[in-house]
Amino acid sequence: MVRHRRRERKLRGKDRFPRVAQAKAPPDPQAGTWHSSHVMENITAGRQREYVSEFEIAFSNAIIGSAPGIFFVVKRDGGLIRWNAGMNALTGRSDEDLRNTALTALAPADDQAQVAANLGKTFETGASQGEIRLRCSRGQDTRDCVFSAQRFEIAGVPYVVGFCIDKTQVRRRLENDLIREKAISDTIIESAPGAFYMIDQDHNLVRWNKLMNKTTGLSDEQLRGRPILSAIHEQDRTLAAAKFLIAFATGYSHMEVRVPTADQGLRYMLKTARRFMVDGVPYLAGYSFDVTDRKQSEEALVKEKIFSDALVDSVPGAFYVVDAEGNYYRWNSYLNRLTGLSDGELMQRPYLLSILEADRPIAAQAMKDAFENGYAQAELRVHTRDRGVRLFAITARRFKVAEATYLVGVGMDTTEWLDKIRNLEHDAWTDPLTQVANRGHFLEMAKQEFARCRRYGHAISLWMLDIDHFKNVNDTYGHQAGDIALQALVAISRKALRDWDILGRMGGEEFAVLLPETETTQALLVAERFRQTVAAAGVPLENDKSVHITVSIGIAAAQDADTDLEALLDRADRALYQAKRTGRDKVCLAEQAAAG
Ligand code: GH3
Ligand code: MG
Ligand code: MG
Repeated sequence: MVRHRRRERKLRGKDRFPRVAQAKAPPDPQAGTWHSSHVMENITAGRQREYVSEFEIAFSNAIIGSAPGIFFVVKRDGGLIRWNAGMNALTGRSDEDLRNTALTALAPADDQAQVAANLGKTFETGASQGEIRLRCSRGQDTRDCVFSAQRFEIAGVPYVVGFCIDKTQVRRRLENDLIREKAISDTIIESAPGAFYMIDQDHNLVRWNKLMNKTTGLSDEQLRGRPILSAIHEQDRTLAAAKFLIAFATGYSHMEVRVPTADQGLRYMLKTARRFMVDGVPYLAGYSFDVTDRKQSEEALVKEKIFSDALVDSVPGAFYVVDAEGNYYRWNSYLNRLTGLSDGELMQRPYLLSILEADRPIAAQAMKDAFENGYAQAELRVHTRDRGVRLFAITARRFKVAEATYLVGVGMDTTEWLDKIRNLEHDAWTDPLTQVANRGHFLEMAKQEFARCRRYGHAISLWMLDIDHFKNVNDTYGHQAGDIALQALVAISRKALRDWDILGRMGGEEFAVLLPETETTQALLVAERFRQTVAAAGVPLENDKSVHITVSIGIAAAQDADTDLEALLDRADRALYQAKRTGRDKVCLAEQAAAG
């Protein structure tokens, strides 16, 4: 107390709180302000400075002004000393009117005892809450209000401060909030790019959007309470039920299920499911998005992949795609078998490593050519797992995917091809019985040789040779003996001729020999010696028998006037005819024939 008095003295002279002095003046006629005169009446001027500051007043006025309902302060006898504009508005009473009114008088007659009791309880216990009814505008209309009141004391004097809120207003606000929330959520739900659904714990529909009506073709009445699983394709229901259970348990799940639609048949839907609680009861809400197009393109892709895999595996050789750095990018199983490397080992492996070191520059050049020109091919030797080094014909064609460039190609093992081709060529060119050139091949080789000798002005001679009375050999000893005789004749001629002389079977038992770099006299000499060798040699047959044959030979030598082989052949033929005609087992020169 001593301290307070000293402080009072100190402050009094300075009059530090002019507003407090103002508060003693008649209340601010402006509605809703803090009516503070009574507080001021009940405490000494000195105490006022202790309890009421300029700030406190402003702050309190702000709170009270912003209060959404009715505010009041009553003294112990129940008389109103403070209120806000809400109180004026509800009761229809002026400030003047209210200042001399007890709170109980604002209630309808029947409720006044109840209000008095609540007030008494608040003064006693310090706080109370409940409902009261207040009269409107002095008339018979009433408003049900909820209130909350609290006791406070100023300098030992008790007061009760209370707030009332008109219940009808509260309800209306809540309802408005609800309507607004519903409008917002409806908008969100309707504007979603998918069908919206909300289901209860039994998986029955409780809410949906219009897209749901459209896809199912069902009305709101038909959808209400309908099991959501009935909207899902039979075969996907187990999956969907499991996913809904998961969502209820964990809060979220999603699924891809088939949904029969009213207008588009069976569609693939991506369904989300999110759990949320209403008054402690869980629900699921989510959207269905039509993913059929994506699903179909995925399926098409898978089919395409299976198809292309089958295609590359059916290549009768190595199939590969090489990237711009020369690494394997894709390949078929042939390449795995060939190299003995797994997919993992082939991946990103430089393809040059599969090629024999000596051939790698050729391979690198082929790759460069293919990238630059679009196509290349090469013959390369390749290391194989089981078969050593093999010869491969490889191709490489450039192609682009997006921005990346690749080479695609095949590698064919040609090691055996060469042999096969050689065999085929041999078969095509060679007489199978005697293994000498057939007529076609002889003519081809002879033409080239004839042209070459003519070009250089070299001599060239030709024999035409025919076995005498060969029909008799066949008739006497059999066809097989004839074959043996033909082979024996060839064996003798191989010994008599030089490596570069060309021997051919022109048909039947008729042969031709081209002798490059050979003058007529030399050709005649060799032919005569040959004729004698054949005549002397017996051809051994089965059963220790043997047969003797003789040959007639016509000889022609190239002349300056000869432009092609035909003329030479023609003259040799005529010389042979001459030999036959003049006794057989003899050699005739074409010139002699022409002369004779
Ligand atoms: P010429 O002295 O006038 O040439 O009498 P030739 O009997 O030799 O002549 P011809 O043209 O009358 O008969 C040729 C015979 O050669 C008839 C044919 O059966 C036989 N001949 C042709 N090719 C073969 C063959 O590949 N094997 C066998 N065994 N006989 C063949
Ligand atoms: Mg004959
Ligand atoms: Mg003949």
